[in-house]
Amino acid sequence: MTRDYDDTNIFARILRGEIPCDKVFEDEHVLAFKDIQPRAPVHVLVIPKGRYRSFADFSANASEDEVVALIRAAGRIAKEMGVEDPGYRLLSNVGDDGGQEVPHLHFHIFGGRALGAMLPSAD
Ligand code: 5GP
Repeated sequence: MTRDYDDTNIFARILRGEIPCDKVFEDEHVLAFKDIQPRAPVHVLVIPKGRYRSFADFSANASEDEVVALIRAAGRIAKEMGVEDPGYRLLSNVGDDGGQEVPHLHFHIFGGRALGAMLPSAD
């Protein structure tokens, strides 16, 4: 489980407890916490505890328990944060073109306001 994984990335440091986070959920396989620079009234990051850089890495190599835990946690957190109705955005930036800044797989949950178009333009 070491494929291309940088143990110094900020989320690895949060998982090790070296940096604090505003935690909203934790179980055996998942940690979720508020984004430090929120882009919406609700902006939560949902991450696997395992050392996965990307969605490709996670989807190919994570155990079924880890995959199920991440998906179930995302749905549960959205509900608990009160954004299920009227809605929210679940998003993962992957790789350079995806705009991924932190090389540890994460899903953003954005909500609490109308979020507008999915992308600013088709370019
Ligand atoms: P990405 O661009 O990789 O999809 O998103 C990374 C996110 O991590 C950004 O929204 C950024 O604000 C957030 N982030 C970066 N460093 C920290 C940190 O130390 N704590 C928290 N809570 N969020 C962080």
